[in-house]
Amino acid sequence: MRLLAKARLKAFGVLIGVGVAAFSVISIATLPTAAVVGVAITAVAVVVSKIGAPFDKAVCHSCGDSLAGERAGAYGVICPGCGALSEVSPMVLERTRQA
Ligand SMILES: [Zn+2]
Repeated sequence: MRLLAKARLKAFGVLIGVGVAAFSVISIATLPTAAVVGVAITAVAVVVSKIGAPFDKAVCHSCGDSLAGERAGAYGVICPGCGALSEVSPMVLERTRQA
């Protein structure tokens, strides 16, 4: 499974899991709904941000290999490992080269 598809599936799982957990806590406990929903939204935001963190670097969206030092074409960067075309921002590529 492609790296991007895995990240999307993880984010969807977290969204569903936290939603079910929040609904359960609201149903069972006598906690205020607004507080539970606020904590749930914060938790989802933090976890989804962590899941998407690898895509801030120049990595292949298919296999996860680093694309540092690769040249970008008009449609993205071709991974030398798997041959997949990943759309990586030129700014991210430049930042990766400087690091
Ligand atoms: Zn690759």
